Amino acid sequence: MSGRVTLVGGGPGREDLLTVAAVRALAGAEVVLYDRLAPHEHLAELAPRAELVDVGKRPGHHAIPQHEIERLLVEHALAGRRVVRLKGGDPYVLGRGGEELAACRAAGIPVDVVPGVTSAVAVPGAAGIPLTHRGISCMFTVVSGHAPLSDAELGHLAGLGGTIVVLMGMTTLPATAAGLVRAGMAAGTPVAIVERGFQAGQRTTVAELGDVVARAAAVRAASPAIIVIGEVVRLAAGGDGAAREVMQRAAGLGASP
Ligand code: SAH
Repeated sequence: MSGRVTLVGGGPGREDLLTVAAVRALAGAEVVLYDRLAPHEHLAELAPRAELVDVGKRPGHHAIPQHEIERLLVEHALAGRRVVRLKGGDPYVLGRGGEELAACRAAGIPVDVVPGVTSAVAVPGAAGIPLTHRGISCMFTVVSGHAPLSDAELGHLAGLGGTIVVLMGMTTLPATAAGLVRAGMAAGTPVAIVERGFQAGQRTTVAELGDVVARAAAVRAASPAIIVIGEVVRLAAGGDGAAREVMQRAAGLGASP
């Protein structure tokens, strides 16, 4: 039997947010290479016939380098196995899925892709933040904070006037927040940091661009986290005390009858 690779988006980390297609791909897998942010606790049941390989990526510490992951995918598929590459969120949202696709294609291996629920949208949602809201924001931009954004990028983002969603952005948060203010965004723009979305320790910290760095430090906010910047943060429902505070202030400033 000839091998193949299926790149599977595993969603933001909770098993019931796997798609039916993802569950089917896992059920038929002979090898699963999985990331830390993908749901992996019950892989033994979801992929009962598969060899499970933790290629555990974490910020600043890639247990297995990307080229090695790609080499393993190709090697297992060339050995005739059905390989699932289980990734967090959607494979093609800041997840290097395109590189894995290219590596397999270059080796002549057939590849399927199963989309996943991206954390960029789902994690803000879990914190009660809609990324768009009629009359408040009609767009969102998802950016990587892995490296600091350039002044040109910060200028474009600030000029869009929509919601900004930053992934992998905790280390560069000081540069991002200061840069956006420098680029013209109001220091009072609300910011939410949503840590560990859909996990037991999910926590939302709400602040403003001007004080988010101090707030994040005070509560020791840490990766994995999604940073949401924009007026939609004021809509966060049922959040923590800080969220209520911002909402009360927003209600006070708004034209409520
Ligand atoms: N392809 C993934 C994103 C990979 S980049 C997707 O579509 O979701 C990894 C970053 O995603 C993390 O640094 C963090 O910013 C974010 N992330 C992924 N899962 C998360 C979760 N459950 N809670 C908070 N942030 C998460």
